[in-house]
Amino acid sequence: MSTTTARTGVRAAVAEPTSTDSTQTARILQGSPIAGAMRARVTEDVVAFRQRHGFAPTLAVVMVGRDAPSAVYLQQIIRGCVKVGVEGRVVEVPEGADAREIQRQIRSLNDDPLVSGIIIQMPLPAHIPLRVIIDTIDPGKDIDGIHPINAGLLSLGYDGFLPATAHAAVQILRASGYDLEGLDAVVIGRSNVVGKPTGLLLLREHCTVTVCHRRTRDLAAQTRRADLVVVAAGSPGLVRGDMLKPGALVVDVGINVVEDGIVGDVDFESAKTVAGAITPVPGGVGPVTNAILMEHLIRAARDQHG
Ligand code: NAD
Repeated sequence: MSTTTARTGVRAAVAEPTSTDSTQTARILQGSPIAGAMRARVTEDVVAFRQRHGFAPTLAVVMVGRDAPSAVYLQQIIRGCVKVGVEGRVVEVPEGADAREIQRQIRSLNDDPLVSGIIIQMPLPAHIPLRVIIDTIDPGKDIDGIHPINAGLLSLGYDGFLPATAHAAVQILRASGYDLEGLDAVVIGRSNVVGKPTGLLLLREHCTVTVCHRRTRDLAAQTRRADLVVVAAGSPGLVRGDMLKPGALVVDVGINVVEDGIVGDVDFESAKTVAGAITPVPGGVGPVTNAILMEHLIRAARDQHG
């Protein structure tokens, strides 16, 4: 265990930095190996499902209009489907379509026995009432856990479909060997899809959780006392190294398309010299999210087909 990690009392199975960069203290938590192991298990499950039922499950992604981060995410999802042998179907709805048209598409996917999971790409155009769309998804096919039934199950601590990104933010830590029990955790972001469910999942892991947002008065004061910081704000460079407690675990969920490519919400260069462990962007939470969606899909398919 590295000394920085030990300082916060964060327990890790393996915590030695893997990079040769001399200024780096943080262990870099790469998502790809974790995702690869998950995908290998899912691939076997898909083969078994196909043998038993004669078809591979389909993941349908409903995309309304175009938005840069969503398009990146969509490409990754479709690639993930190919890797585990399931079908990925993109249902493109024109930007100007009304809620009824989107609902019609979702109902037809609900009724399609080949489709086991449905994802709605966010954000939806401003004129579409989000609640109406979410309510239309069959909760048994809601593999990204956005339906009120799945959100309710999560808040009560029962089994349902978890929002994949929130699930991934916690899973990347668990799979890297960290025991989260008792940690002071700060989540930045309170969206229904990422921040809020991440907070609930960390409570389930027995963390003491603070959820911060745009109106939090002194963000740095919150993050500086945290053993674990999960950032899901959509704001590049929001969390710098000087806002972190030495040795803290840092999970960067942000995906921001900037001139130089894709960056997260954490200023990686300064944060990695202070944190005990940190997820990179790209290559951290993203690949794990993708693999988790595939896990949720095969679970949904099995539930639907017995
Ligand atoms: P959102 O815009 O719905 O919510 C952002 C939240 O962050 C809000 O609660 C807001 O109050 C808070 N916030 C924004 N700026 C802040 C600031 N300066 N200080 C404190 N709080 C601030 O976004 P979202 O859908 O929750 O997504 C968050 C980020 O995660 C985005 O970058 C998104 O692209 C990314 N994302 C990543 C994955 C993945 O798999 N890695 C999946 C979904 C979303």
